[in-house]
Amino acid sequence: MPRDLINAALKGLSRPATVIAVAPGRVNLIGEHIDYCDGFVMPFAIDRSIVIAAAKNGSSEAHLRSEGQPDAAIDLTLPQEIGEPHWANYVRGVIDGFQQLGYDIPGFEACFVSSVPGGAGLSSSAALECATATLLEGLLGISLSKKQKALLCQKAEHDFAQVPCGIMDQFASTFGEENRLVMIDCRSAEVTLVPFENPDLAVIIANTKVHHQLSDGAYAMRRQHTEEALKWLGKPSWRDVTLTDVKARWNDLGDPVNRRARHVVTEIARTQKAAHALAQNDFLLLGELMDASHDSLRDDFEVSCEELDIMVNLAREIGISGGVFGARMTGGGFGGSTVTLCKRECTDVIMTTMRRSYQQATGIVPEIFCSRPSRGAHLVD
Ligand code: ADP
Ligand code: MG
Repeated sequence: MPRDLINAALKGLSRPATVIAVAPGRVNLIGEHIDYCDGFVMPFAIDRSIVIAAAKNGSSEAHLRSEGQPDAAIDLTLPQEIGEPHWANYVRGVIDGFQQLGYDIPGFEACFVSSVPGGAGLSSSAALECATATLLEGLLGISLSKKQKALLCQKAEHDFAQVPCGIMDQFASTFGEENRLVMIDCRSAEVTLVPFENPDLAVIIANTKVHHQLSDGAYAMRRQHTEEALKWLGKPSWRDVTLTDVKARWNDLGDPVNRRARHVVTEIARTQKAAHALAQNDFLLLGELMDASHDSLRDDFEVSCEELDIMVNLAREIGISGGVFGARMTGGGFGGSTVTLCKRECTDVIMTTMRRSYQQATGIVPEIFCSRPSRGAHLVD
């Protein structure tokens, strides 16, 4: 329970809160850039969240406050539209989703507080959407299914933030559980909670603190490449495509579309193998799969960047003798964070080494921390 965040959110309200909603960010262990390709992905909800404290204000407006952001007012009697300030669009999008379902949202005041670094590839945007949806459930005294809620939040991100994201982030923030990875079959949108409770295992998240601007256009471009490739391959879904199919059409697909296709099919296979490796407690294999995932994202999908590669290489240089099983970039890429699977007893030394060496190599002070799989979006009693 993020007590400090809750207290800070309560303090930011001008009246006693009647609803408190929490939703976490996420990190993806493996299965990158394939949530929009019918793939398998394996994220988990981290123990960093956005908390919203709120109370009805007797008006027909939502008054929103978030530290470091301009205040926002939203007229709840009108259809929602994209506007200023930008951050409130995530909230407008979720409000729109509830209005489309026929709900009449009462006026409210809300204070948002967060421990999810924004723009760090840990999906603060999904946390913001899922916390908002959970808050509206609380204000309305209703509850959507987790799947319906996650899909509504994804639509908010598409339509109001204009980011054509897959389903991973909102599913992870909604379905997360303590000690469980959220394995998502992105074709059927079915979720399997995969145990991740070995106390000897730890995950280090390293925020490179860079976010290269090309990311938005490049993301849309990667989606376009994968759609183009699938059309050329003549298959209804990436799940029907094999590496042999891709190799057979290599020249027809042309560069770089053929390499994008190779990433998708190999990453889907790696994620399935990773789930199996985890079930067998084969952490060496899991680490190798994570390494291979990074290499594929760097070379075939081309969504890494110098700083991500440096951070990943630093972890890999420590190697298994220093307790590192594997490392990879996580999230959309072009900056953001990496994820390192390691032995719990070695985490402090690994984090210190990574911090020092990354700063030496780049001049940037990174943000490096450990996280366990944590509970997804919920209301606080
Ligand atoms: P990521 O999801 O990887 O953190 P995005 O660019 O998708 O990065 O989302 C970041 C955006 O989400 C911010 O620019 C801001 O508009 C919004 N946001 C995130 N956290 C907060 C917060 N605590 N308060 C207000 N807006 C937030
Ligand atoms: Mg985001």
